[in-house]
Amino acid sequence: MEQVVRHPGGFPVVGIIGGGQLARMCQPPAVGLSLTLAVLSEGPQAAAALVVPNAPVGAHDDVETVREFARQCDVVTFDHEHVPPEVLAALEEDGVPLHPRPSALRYAQDKLAMRERLGDLVDCPRWRAVGSVDDLAAFGEEIGFPLVLKTPRGGYDGKGVRMVSSADDVADCADWFERAGSDPLLAEEAVDFTREIAVLIARSPSGQAAAWPVVETVQTDGICTEVIAPAPDLDDDLATAATAAGLRIAGELDVTGVMAVELFEVVRDGRPGYVVNELAMRPHNSGHWSIDGSITSQFEQHLRAVLDLPLGDTRARSRWTVMGNVLGGAEPEHAELYGTYKHLLARDPGLKMHLYGKEVRPGRKIGHVTVCGDDLADLRERAAHAAGYLEGTITG
Ligand code: ADP
Repeated sequence: MEQVVRHPGGFPVVGIIGGGQLARMCQPPAVGLSLTLAVLSEGPQAAAALVVPNAPVGAHDDVETVREFARQCDVVTFDHEHVPPEVLAALEEDGVPLHPRPSALRYAQDKLAMRERLGDLVDCPRWRAVGSVDDLAAFGEEIGFPLVLKTPRGGYDGKGVRMVSSADDVADCADWFERAGSDPLLAEEAVDFTREIAVLIARSPSGQAAAWPVVETVQTDGICTEVIAPAPDLDDDLATAATAAGLRIAGELDVTGVMAVELFEVVRDGRPGYVVNELAMRPHNSGHWSIDGSITSQFEQHLRAVLDLPLGDTRARSRWTVMGNVLGGAEPEHAELYGTYKHLLARDPGLKMHLYGKEVRPGRKIGHVTVCGDDLADLRERAAHAAGYLEGTITG
C-alpha cells in the first residue's frame, strides 16, 4: 500500500474500512479539521475512493489486507458493519484503536445478540431465536400473528426482513431456514406502530455523549425515503424517553462514535411510547439531515468522537429540515444525473444536493437532498420533488 500523506501540524490519520457513501461524507469535515482520511475501498470507483486520495483497494474481510491498512492509521472506524469478527480480533491484537470497539459493534452486527443485550435496558418487541418452521409456528401460537422474521446478520433496506401474516404463512418460510443452515433466525412480534422515529447519539471514548433532536423516518417498501427533523408533533415525554434510551444504550454498550437507534413509536396505555427496532454504530441515513440542518453534522461528530475530541453542538439550525433519499431510477436515461442540475438548482436555490458518485441501479440509494426552513409542508414538497426528478418519476 502506498504511504499515506499526512497534513503537517501533528494531525492524525483516520482510517475507514469500506469506501461507501458514509466514508465519502466524512471527507468535507475532515478537510475542515485538517484530518487525513484513509479509506480501505472496495474498488477505485467506490463512492469514497472518488473523493479521498488515500483509498487503497482491498477486501474488508481479509485479515492481512486490513492489518496492513490499519498500520498507517492512528484510529480505525467503519463505513459498514460487515467486517468479520476474526478481522476485528486481529486488529485488537495489534493494538489498533478501533471505534466502535468490537465488543460494542457485535450488537449492531447481529440482531439476535442485540435483542438479547437490549432486553433489560430499553423497551423492545417480544422476540425469539427460531431454528425451524416448527419453532416459528410455536412462537406465533404463543404470542399471536403477524410476526416478522429476520436474518440476524447482513440485512439492509428491508432485505432480510419478512412478514409472517398468519399460521398459514409459516410453511412458506422453509427456504429462509434452509438458507440460514444451522444458524437461528430472529422472529419478533409485528409491532403495531404509529410511525418510525430515530435517535442519533455520539459518544467519545472518554464518555462524553451528545444527542441530536429525535427525527421521523418515513419508509416506502422497506426503504427509508424521507427524514423529518425534528419529528413533527413528537410528545415531549417520548422525546425525552427515546433520547434517554439512546444514551443508555451508548453508555452501557460502551459505544464510541456515532450510533443510530431506530425506534417504533407506539401507543401504550393511551400514551405515546417506543420500542427499539435496531442499532447502527456509524453515521446513519437518519442523520444525513444534520449536514445542512445541524450545527454539527453526524460526520464531523463521528470524526471528533473517534479521535476523543470534544463533541460539537447538535442543535438544529432551522425549525425544520427535510431530507429526501434519492433512489436509482428504473430508466437508463436517468443515469445522466448531471443533466438534472440546471432545472433543479434553478427551480429551488435553497436545495442542497448530496450525490454519492454511485452507479445508478434501480432502487439503490444514490444520494440525498436536503431543505431547511419554517414551512414543513413546503419543505416536504420540495424534497420530494427534487428526489423524484433525480429518480425520473417527476419530469417537470
Ligand atoms: P434492515 O436491517 O433491513 O433495515 P429492519 O429491521 O430495520 O431491517 O426492518 C426494515 C423495516 O421493516 C422497518 O423499517 C419496519 O418498517 C419493518 N419492520 C421491521 N421489524 C418490524 C417489526 N418487529 N414490526 C413491524 N415492522 C417491522
